[in-house]
Amino acid sequence: MVVGMKPVSRTMAVVFLAVIGPALAWGGAVTPRQGDVAVRIAVLKDAEEAAIGIRGEYILMDPLSSRELDRGFHLRKTALFPEKNGIRLGARSFPLKRIRFVPQEYFSLFRDRQERKYRGVVDVFLTPERRLLFVNTVDLEEYIKGVLYHEVSHRWPLEAIKAQAVAVRSYAIYQVQQNKNKDYDMTNDIYSQVYGGKTSERYRTNLAVQRTRGEILIFKEKVLPAYYHATCGGATENVKEVWKHDLYPLKGVRCPFCSHSPHYSWKKNFQLKAIQEKLNKSGYKIGLIKNIEVRDRTLSGRVKTLDITSRDGEKISISGKAFRDVIGPNELRSNDYRVVMKGYYCDFIGKGWGHGVGLCQWGAMGMAKQQHTYDEILMYYYPGTQMVSVRSLEALK
Ligand SMILES: [Zn+2]
Repeated sequence: MVVGMKPVSRTMAVVFLAVIGPALAWGGAVTPRQGDVAVRIAVLKDAEEAAIGIRGEYILMDPLSSRELDRGFHLRKTALFPEKNGIRLGARSFPLKRIRFVPQEYFSLFRDRQERKYRGVVDVFLTPERRLLFVNTVDLEEYIKGVLYHEVSHRWPLEAIKAQAVAVRSYAIYQVQQNKNKDYDMTNDIYSQVYGGKTSERYRTNLAVQRTRGEILIFKEKVLPAYYHATCGGATENVKEVWKHDLYPLKGVRCPFCSHSPHYSWKKNFQLKAIQEKLNKSGYKIGLIKNIEVRDRTLSGRVKTLDITSRDGEKISISGKAFRDVIGPNELRSNDYRVVMKGYYCDFIGKGWGHGVGLCQWGAMGMAKQQHTYDEILMYYYPGTQMVSVRSLEALK
């Protein structure tokens, strides 16, 4: 419950200006004001209930009218529920479709007995399905601090972590530009960049963020969607084989730097019946599988199309990308494999982990170990790009 009613301090006003001011003024678009950029991440979606706690002073407000609803000092873990026409916080109901908490220090979200701490501000939305959506608006640099831990080991060479920081920052800004008319820019799962908030910060990942502050990659005056992946297995993939982009810096390079990766080569055994079931669940119609054959490959050597035939003679063709989605991207770690049929089973013998586009994380680590600097690493995996300050974006418009 709300405890204490101290007046809002000066620090509080600074937090408010730094995060909320720009967020309100820009509606999430990248129009840097005094160098500040905020990103909006859906940290919790479709929640039937959740709980929030706040450390330090805070304001609760209606973000649409900017009306203050409450203020206080330390909010202990308090449940939030969707209601028919509003949002319930503990015993109080607010007849609003969106409320905003502005904490001075940080807030915690509790779900499934786990607490996760976040910096910045949180908007709680009542969705048309009567669920709660939590969107964290946070300074770009703080966001990257909350992502890096999930992407690379904080024990890796600093130059590799710095290269990753610039890639994450560029990708985030690209998403902000793409989603400016939506309620949020990114989710916090594997479909954008895993973001764990303050809970995921570590000393060396924070250092890498500070030492690359504001640096992003551009190509032909546009922010690069700086894709990255764990291990390429020898060559990175051309982005156009995976997504609807055709960009020179993402056309793929040879990578002799990731052979020490634990993901460099792998072997996975599948029951053909399990593959058949997964295909049918995803809308492909096929009986008992007799053969799986690679029909063609991309220039980097990854599977482009697979032909699958059943014992009854049915045949389907499926793209390597679609097949990996059907099987599960962590079950089938990459598209760089060959298939060995073994009766009712088959082996996938492959290399690398991930889609293979852009920066190879274990390759970046290998380059850093060979004394390459972070900008050399970035220029290797994203050739033709330029590194600029996020503050110069306005000039690019
Ligand atoms: Zn590699």
